[in-house]
Amino acid sequence: MKFVSYWHDTAPAFAGGAEGPVSGHFDVAVIGAGFTGLAAARQLARAGVKVVILEAECVGFGASGRNGGHLNNGLAHSYLGAKAELGKERAIALYHALDDSIDTIEKLIAEEGIDCYFRRSGKLKLASKPKHFEAIVRNFEALNKECDPDTALLSPEDLSQEVVSSFHGAMLSKKSAMMHMGRYVVGLAEAAVRHGATIFEGAAVTEHHETNGVHTLQTTRGSLTAANVIVATGAYTTKNFAWFRRRIIAVGSFLIATRALNEAEVQAVMPGNRTCVNTMNIGNYWRLSPDNRLIFGGRARFSATSDQRSDEKSGAILRESLERIFPQLKGIEIDYCWGGLVDMTADRYPRAGFQDGLWYAMGYSGHGAQLSTHLGMMVADAILGRADRNPMQNYPWPAVPGHFGKPWFLPLVGMFYKAKDMLE
Ligand SMILES: Cc1cc2nc3c(=O)[nH]c(=O)nc-3n(C[C@H](O)[C@H](O)[C@H](O)COP(=O)(O)OP(=O)(O)OC[C@H]3O[C@@H](n4cnc5c(N)ncnc54)[C@H](O)[C@@H]3O)c2cc1C
Repeated sequence: MKFVSYWHDTAPAFAGGAEGPVSGHFDVAVIGAGFTGLAAARQLARAGVKVVILEAECVGFGASGRNGGHLNNGLAHSYLGAKAELGKERAIALYHALDDSIDTIEKLIAEEGIDCYFRRSGKLKLASKPKHFEAIVRNFEALNKECDPDTALLSPEDLSQEVVSSFHGAMLSKKSAMMHMGRYVVGLAEAAVRHGATIFEGAAVTEHHETNGVHTLQTTRGSLTAANVIVATGAYTTKNFAWFRRRIIAVGSFLIATRALNEAEVQAVMPGNRTCVNTMNIGNYWRLSPDNRLIFGGRARFSATSDQRSDEKSGAILRESLERIFPQLKGIEIDYCWGGLVDMTADRYPRAGFQDGLWYAMGYSGHGAQLSTHLGMMVADAILGRADRNPMQNYPWPAVPGHFGKPWFLPLVGMFYKAKDMLE
């Protein structure tokens, strides 16, 4: 078994990084080379802006190269829950931003010729318990009528054509998609460079200050100045950006990938070949890879650490869950096991905007594989003086009480959700 992201292992390496020391003056400096930062930089470079990306590790090192590969439309919340919290107008605007995010990615891939197996697969939200299906039906009735007619309810009988397991029905979101995240992130970085952006890898920003509207960024490879800065560091945000660290909760999420399944095995497990999530609070998500591996993920343990030891422990829990859901795969070889940090907010709504002289987009709360490209481009548009289409504009973002970067409270949150899963 390899302890490396399947996406990292099966994508070409990015070879367009700048040589030499970090120096010079730029219109915009972007911190972080994940989807948010790269999409923002590409958008700015296309408009003729002099833009640089500073990445502590390498392109796609963070969540963008480690995720589950789902481009799901639909919110982290139920539509009814979001409507109650945000009001109908903002809930619909946010929901539609997720739809638009997938369209944005589809268009970008076509424009840049990125070969990353993008496919409109549709997503299934699978009811793990009969009561959960009742909740799905209630949500579906409002959602389908008010916001997303491209949704359908599937009965347990319909599901036999989709997922061979024991779920109690599902909601199908037809617009959802999947792609190869490693090939996309490298393609996006290459596109940004082609349009004129400079990318420095291995350039961690260690200090930042602003004087008279000019930002100075000190990195491990030298320093530069910039008129604008975009913080696109998600769950990997470092201590020197304390305002964001108090608002982003970095939560470990983990994945395993089986060996490639043969066609008979695919039919015996996932004939529908869609992205799938179940309804447990400590839930699981899965899909098939382009070479038919089952890529199966979940929070597994409420850990704030992802390293080989932590990933291995989580991988063992994920194998148990996989075999519980698909007993027909008992004993299957696991070829990959990896993890990463998810950029959660306390209310699980994303945020983008301008704070203390810094532009930002982050906090996608498990729905960032698609939103990050879209919001990254929106932040770029705001810098370019174009209309602000941010659905979370002016929505308050208070610090998490008692949180300064290391989420010490995660085990307690895990216990709470475990109890909820037993009772509900
Ligand atoms: C295991 C896992 C599974 C997931 N599955 C899904 C999914 O299936 N669908 C979905 O929609 N979302 C999913 N997500 C979430 C999604 O991947 C993220 O929300 C999204 O990739 C965030 O992109 P980003 O560019 O904002 O941040 P990242 O990709 O995390 O990039 C941030 C970058 O900033 C760099 N950085 C940080 N600090 C500094 C500094 N001081 N100087 C320089 N560089 C710095 C980091 O090295 C990193 O490369 C998942 C996440 C994880 C971890």
